[in-house]
Amino acid sequence: MNDVLPALLALAAAAAPPTWRYEVTWRPEGLAVVARLPAGSGRGLTVGAPGFVRQVSVDGAPTALADADCRRGCVVRLRFDLAASTDEARGFVGPARGGIQVTRPGDWLPVPARAPRDGTFALTVHTPAKVTFAAGLEQTPEGWRGPASLLADGPPAAFGPLDLAPLPVPGARRVTLALPRIPLAVPRSVVEAWVTREATRVARYFGGLPVPDLLVLALPVDRDDIPFGSAHGLGGATLQVYVGKDAPAEAFRDDWKLRHELVHLGLPNLPPRHRWMEEGLATYLEALLGADDEAALWGELAEGVAQGLPRGEGLDGTRRWGETYWGGALYWLMADVELRVASHGAKSLQDALQTLRAAGGNMTVRWPLARTLAAADAGTGQHVLNELHRAFGERGAPVDLEGLLKRLGVATSRGPAKLSAAAPWAPYRPRPPALSGDGGGATRSPARSR
Ligand SMILES: [Zn+2]
Repeated sequence: MNDVLPALLALAAAAAPPTWRYEVTWRPEGLAVVARLPAGSGRGLTVGAPGFVRQVSVDGAPTALADADCRRGCVVRLRFDLAASTDEARGFVGPARGGIQVTRPGDWLPVPARAPRDGTFALTVHTPAKVTFAAGLEQTPEGWRGPASLLADGPPAAFGPLDLAPLPVPGARRVTLALPRIPLAVPRSVVEAWVTREATRVARYFGGLPVPDLLVLALPVDRDDIPFGSAHGLGGATLQVYVGKDAPAEAFRDDWKLRHELVHLGLPNLPPRHRWMEEGLATYLEALLGADDEAALWGELAEGVAQGLPRGEGLDGTRRWGETYWGGALYWLMADVELRVASHGAKSLQDALQTLRAAGGNMTVRWPLARTLAAADAGTGQHVLNELHRAFGERGAPVDLEGLLKRLGVATSRGPAKLSAAAPWAPYRPRPPALSGDGGGATRSPARSR
């Protein structure tokens, strides 16, 4: 995998002038959208949520989006009923408090229905003083921007009374925590420290945060825990985390859900049939990167992956919970061990994932599985990820879990495992970074992974 070419292409895309320009004004009655689309934009426009679009005009004449003639370029104006559209999209953990409107720009920005989408877009947003706009897109002096091809599927953004805190995270251009201005049980510094700590943990493992720009949108709910999070990429990246208004400091200290969502940033969006690989990586690394007790980690991993053993058919396309989360975790764990054994401890899964990150393989893009695994395998000089996918994903080859744990020197019953240093693969047992003093590798010096 040549990783110079994608970098050059990304530079070229960044230098090109935006092809689609949008100017949006937030008003209590909704969004006023002005779109300037260049010649060659064809006939017919679409938006993600057409049911909330009102008063469309093209070059000053009222029309329907589907009938817009933009072959020689056009200026489109429309109103979007933001309040009605966000009322429909309620999370299953209950309504978020604080008067925040969570919305996808792709829902209200018109794009050509059939013309090529190979340029970039630029978006400027005007709001009254009390309303803040936050998005998981790249922010430049001329506004928010991203690839036009992904605008329709891009990550959620938010309007409302939000405080924005820039957080220092290694390898990232901009990480912003958006937190509604309502009282919480803990000082806001606890929330900021939690996001910074977990993002830094994940960034250290991947050789830098996997995505350049990240919005972490904290949504307060009427609870005393941290019930749920979700990760959204394509052209940018947003993590939505529901945070109990009454959650005590311990809930932030003990949380693993944000770490799980942050790990999702490290893989491209794969076709839906490989969802088990996305959830598996998040499940494996959420455990490994958060552990501060090796015996407890292996107790949890051994009990977990036993719920995900392939049942004689490939995991590709599975919808079963155990296979999706723990079968996937077993795949990445086995890859990590195989890479260490085959290289006598010189390489690990971390090398593969750092190389994938350097090649631009992260949640802001949509890649086929073959490209993803080839880019990651290039970091180790082996084909472990690809071969293991054939065995796991396509064939559902049986796994000798007992034998694997025995060779690693892991003996389990219930609770913490008993670990042996005398087992043949004990030196290749993946170790929590918090204990090994590096980014997760078993045998490397601490300096290398920082
Ligand atoms: Zn997940």
